Parts: sequence; C-alpha cells; structure tokens
Amino acid sequence: MKLIFLGAPGAGKGTQAENVQQKLNIPAISTGNILKEAVRNQTPLGLQAKGFMDAGQLVPDELIIGIIKERLSRADCEKGFILDGVPRTVAQAEALDAMGVTIDRVVNIEVPDETIIVRMAGRRACPSCGATYHLDFKPPAVEGICDKCGTALIQRSDDHPDTVKERLKVYHIQTQPLEDYYGKKGILTTVVGQQELSDTTRLTFKALGISE
Ligand code: AMP
Repeated sequence: MKLIFLGAPGAGKGTQAENVQQKLNIPAISTGNILKEAVRNQTPLGLQAKGFMDAGQLVPDELIIGIIKERLSRADCEKGFILDGVPRTVAQAEALDAMGVTIDRVVNIEVPDETIIVRMAGRRACPSCGATYHLDFKPPAVEGICDKCGTALIQRSDDHPDTVKERLKVYHIQTQPLEDYYGKKGILTTVVGQQELSDTTRLTFKALGISE
C-alpha cells in the first residue's frame, strides 16, 4: 500500500503513521523528522531548512522533492510506504505524480485548530537525541529530563504557541488544497481525530480496511 497521511501539524498523523507502519510493515517517511535530524546534525540540508522551520514556514518544494525522490528510491519502499507530512503543497503532490508514484489512499486526520494549539503547547523534545515527549500525554520519567539520554528537554521553537499559529495558517493556505486534489482523484478518506488516541487509531485502521 502506498499511503499519504494528511493533517495539520499536531493533528496526530505521525502517531497514526507509526501505528500503521507497525501493522503493515512498510516504512513511514516523515519529511519533518528527516529535516529535524538534518538540523540537529547541521548538515547542508539542515542549514538551508532551519530558518524556514523556526519561522513556522514550509521548506522550499525543491528541497522536499529531492528528499522524497531519494527516499522512495530505496529498496524498503518497494512493497509500499506511508508518507507522513508530505506532500504539503500542490507542487509537491504534482511532483509525486510526475515521478509515477500511484497513491492508493490518503488519510486526512481532522482536528480543530484550538485543540492543536493546546496540545502543542505541551510538547517537549530532546535537543540531543530527538526523542519527543508531552507534559500531559507522554511525560518523561524525571521531569524535564530525556529518558533516553539524560539531556535537559526543551520546547522546540516551532512548538511555541506563536509559531504554531503561523504553522496552522500556512497549513490552511498551502496544504489544505490537497484535500481537494486527492478528493477529486477519489482516494481521500477523512478521519476525525478523537480525544482518546486509541479511538483515532481504530478509525484510522477502519479507513484503511486493516483489522486491529
Ligand atoms: P513536521 O514535524 O512534519 O510538522 O515538520 C516540521 C517542519 O519541517 C515544518 O514546520 C516545515 O517547516 C518542515 N517540513 C516538513 N515537511 C515538509 C514538507 N513536506 N514541505 C515543506 N516543509 C516541510
């Protein structure tokens, strides 16, 4: 299966993509994670992307299309894959089409903006190993300290409430048109994000015809 997970930042698409990845044994590819790792390692890609990410803006399409072309050409994508957080613009979706990639289904996870703003305010990340936490839903064992490597946790600049509001604005303007793009192709399913994570997972599996 070749799948796309669409949804606003913080809607929970990454979590659901991981659930489906485990169930179907196909890779979940997150351009957000690839870019964050590049920023942490200060690679040329990371240096180019950082300013856009910190400001809550999208990274230019050419960079994203380059990442995706390289990633999809690897052997582990032959059986299928899940694209998490990409495409995020119509130009990126068109580039996938031009690469001859046929997507089977697009799952659109829908969560109100107000819920997202509250949720993202609680996110914390480890600047050293990249592990992520949430003050309410996934707290570290020791407050403020990474379980995996013991580094002090931070709130990433792109999770600050002002940046989140900017990211949501960008989402509505640049990414939401993809609902129409894939809706017209007849492959879009919308899942309404639930308060309980397990309920959203159940609805996501149902949308994909996967047994729990
Ligand atoms: P995410 O964790 O998926 O929300 O991604 C974090 C940041 O990386 C976003 O706010 C964007 O700046 C950038 N990014 C990730 N994926 C894309 C994409 N497909 N197109 C443009 N920018 C992206």
